[in-house]
Amino acid sequence: MNISDGNKVIGFKVLKYKGIIFDEWTKDENRYWAMICPNCLKQYEDRIDLEIDSSGTGCCSVRGCWQDDDNEIDMKYLDFDINGVEIIEETLEELIDKLKEREMTLDGISHEIEYRENTDDKGPGGWDDTLYEYTTEELEVIEKVWDDYK
Ligand SMILES: [Zn+2]
Repeated sequence: MNISDGNKVIGFKVLKYKGIIFDEWTKDENRYWAMICPNCLKQYEDRIDLEIDSSGTGCCSVRGCWQDDDNEIDMKYLDFDINGVEIIEETLEELIDKLKEREMTLDGISHEIEYRENTDDKGPGGWDDTLYEYTTEELEVIEKVWDDYK
């Protein structure tokens, strides 16, 4: 997370590819890849049909989609043409809009922060933020400004 001073904008990085926004991805030495579920694939296949790889596992990487793989879901790997990849920063307002779209609430965020502070499930190095989409620090910022964006 980057906090730019002055204008209260916080950048969360997202990957933009042919107009589609992905909120998670993996970068190998010279390529990017992500996961895509059948619904998102159907929605975007005219743009990405040549880059689909074999079946994969995990959560769909398209922003706003929370489809997990299970027995009935045929998740695909999506290889990006590296020239088409753009890493952009999402503003805090866009991020909060996204969370609201997913029916996240301020109470839900407060609850998550409280849980992380009080849980016994912290492991030897403390709470491991890297396992989650947002760090505790990020959640605290989101909580603070939640009501600023209606
Ligand atoms: Zn999806």
